[in-house]
Amino acid sequence: MSDCLFCKIVAGVIPAKVIYEDDDVLAFNDIRPAAPVHFLLIPKRHIESLLTTTMEDQALLGKMLAVAPIIAREQGLGAGFKTAINTGLAGGQEVFHLHLHVLGTPQE
Ligand code: AMP
Repeated sequence: MSDCLFCKIVAGVIPAKVIYEDDDVLAFNDIRPAAPVHFLLIPKRHIESLLTTTMEDQALLGKMLAVAPIIAREQGLGAGFKTAINTGLAGGQEVFHLHLHVLGTPQE
C-alpha cells in the first residue's frame, strides 16, 4: 500500500464521504470544506500533481474536467462553481495526489 493519503481513500483504508466513483476517478467531500459544497475529484491511479502529468494522461485529465460539472450539478451547483488545482509546494499543494477542488454554494 502506497503511503499516499488519497490512494488510501481509493483503497477504502481511510474513510471518506464518496459522492462519485467510476473506473478512473473518485470524488469525495473535502474534510475541511471551504464552501457549503466542497469536493475533491481525483484520478484513482496515483499521479503526484499536474507537474508530473504527460500527454499520455490527456484522456484522464479530460475526463476529470468532463465529470466535474456532472457531479457539481448533482450537488446542487447547477448555477455555477469554482475549481482549483494546487500544483507543487509553490502552488500550495498539500496532498501530493492530483486533485481538482470543486467549490460552490447551492442556489435556490
Ligand atoms: P491541496 O492544498 O490542494 O493539496 O488540498 C488538499 C485538500 O485535501 C485540503 O482541502 C484538505 O482539506 C483535504 N483533505 C486532507 N485530508 C483529507 C481527508 N482525509 N479527506 C478529505 N479531504 C482531505
